Amino acid sequence: MPYSPTFDTTRPHLRLLITLLMFSLPMLLGSLALHSRYQTELLQQSNAAAARTMMLMETMLGHAQEANRNALPLLGKPCEAVLDTLREQVALVPFVRSVNLARQGKIYCTSFFGAFKMPYGVEQYSQGSLLLGNTSPARRDHPFLAMRAKQGDAAVVTLVDGDYLSFILHLSDPSLEIMLNVGGRWLDEQGHFFDKTPFWTGLAQVSLSSETYPLTIRAGHNLSSSWLSLLQYRSFGLILLFSFCVGFAFIMWWLLGRPRSPTNELARALQAREFVPFLQPLVASDSERVVGAEVLMRWQHPTAGLIRPDLFIPQAEASGLIVPMTHLIMTEVGAVMAARQACLPDDFHIGFNISAAHCRDNVLLDQCREFLARFAPGKVVLVLELTERELLVADPHTLELFRQLDALGVQLAMDDFGTGHSSLVYLQQFHVNCLKIDQSFIGRIGTESLSEHIVDNVIDLGSRLGLALVAEGVETRQQADYLKGKVACLQGYLFGRPVPVRQFCDEQLAQAASPAMEVKQEQPEPA
Ligand code: C2E
Ligand code: CA
Ligand code: CA
Repeated sequence: MPYSPTFDTTRPHLRLLITLLMFSLPMLLGSLALHSRYQTELLQQSNAAAARTMMLMETMLGHAQEANRNALPLLGKPCEAVLDTLREQVALVPFVRSVNLARQGKIYCTSFFGAFKMPYGVEQYSQGSLLLGNTSPARRDHPFLAMRAKQGDAAVVTLVDGDYLSFILHLSDPSLEIMLNVGGRWLDEQGHFFDKTPFWTGLAQVSLSSETYPLTIRAGHNLSSSWLSLLQYRSFGLILLFSFCVGFAFIMWWLLGRPRSPTNELARALQAREFVPFLQPLVASDSERVVGAEVLMRWQHPTAGLIRPDLFIPQAEASGLIVPMTHLIMTEVGAVMAARQACLPDDFHIGFNISAAHCRDNVLLDQCREFLARFAPGKVVLVLELTERELLVADPHTLELFRQLDALGVQLAMDDFGTGHSSLVYLQQFHVNCLKIDQSFIGRIGTESLSEHIVDNVIDLGSRLGLALVAEGVETRQQADYLKGKVACLQGYLFGRPVPVRQFCDEQLAQAASPAMEVKQEQPEPA
């Protein structure tokens, strides 16, 4: 995936945000799934309980119907003559508490007391056949179910005791609440009678109506909140889900923190401005005064510390990121040194290492212009160092670019001179101003005569080309003395190690007017 600075998932805040999302999203979806499954289970339980209760209720009413059928032929006969048969029904038919004969809206004969006269509220019967009541001739405030079978203006009314009803309602799971409803009247498991719909907020409520009788069974769970009860009764599932989400979020956190591809990591570092300029002084070989500096890039990595350029420059060049990286340190050096230009000696040389990739378009010209514009005229000489190991293709576009750079006053140094194959024609084509003799040659000075001879040859070749010479990697006094008068400038640990740009300004610019010190800063070199 290409690197996107706004979506850099290694940034702590974004990484934390994504990790939290990766925890809360599955946790939320998982909880919703568990909740919905739990609701379905509750509904299934309510339905099953209502069906079971209905089956028992219908069985019981079937018996009442049987008693009614048996008593129908007794209608119209004198009460004394049929009383024994009525009482026989009570004794033999299950659940039946009393059998009553009625005519023109009044009971005239009951298995309880025999002959009797009392209206029985026929109009209150649902579909004229079923009544849930609370006070019967036998007992006050005791629920009953009356089943009526009509024949002309007469009827048989069989009463089922409320205790049987509440017993049937009570048979289900104690966590369930089951109610019987006939007409507008209700009976609950505890035998409480209601003449209007009782208020109840139980969960997963279902209503089941009988296909045979005008009655309804309502069932539901005695739970106030489905989420709380989910927590209470499905805690194992929730703990499992929670552990899974924590594990998932942890893996996410780890994955996001893993180093990405080297190019993406470089792009991230560029965005975070982790590339910083270090400066190493260049001294005049005769006076040993600081006359310039070479800018050397370092990567101030947040965890790995200071990283040497040879460990990341090849990757930066391959990916093309070297161009904005160089621009970043040019801008930084320009800003810091322009602020201190009063301390700079005139014609102070500032050298940047430039990769061939940077010379492909005119962006380099613009960046050089931008750099020089910060300084007063004549204050600095901008030097671009091109390594001899990576020669440029002399096509018309590149030649034109270097012509314009030359016109701008930008100097060109051939870096690592002696290690590559630059020809005289090449050096002239690109308007090279200076040669930096590679440190591998300087290191041979003071060893044995044959190697020293090679150094002399390289210096001789450089001088004959008529270009200014800079000796790199000067580490000993003997080397400095040997090179005095043979090259224009010296650069090496003897005069100063690369240090951060601000430190360079503080330490070296103060001495710019005086000879460089023998023993230089012990800035730790990066890993
Ligand atoms: P270079 O351009 O030849 O830079 C000189 C290298 O020699 C630097 O290593 C410097 O620290 C080291 N050096 C200086 N004096 C002495 C000395 O007395 N003894 C020894 N042994 N070494 C000395 P550094 O900074 O590690 O840079 C290595 C290379 O990385 C540079 O070689 C250059 O090719 C490349 N580089 C550094 N910064 C940049 C940059 O901004 N852009 C590009 N494209 N390349 C860079
Ligand atoms: Ca260089
Ligand atoms: Ca070099």
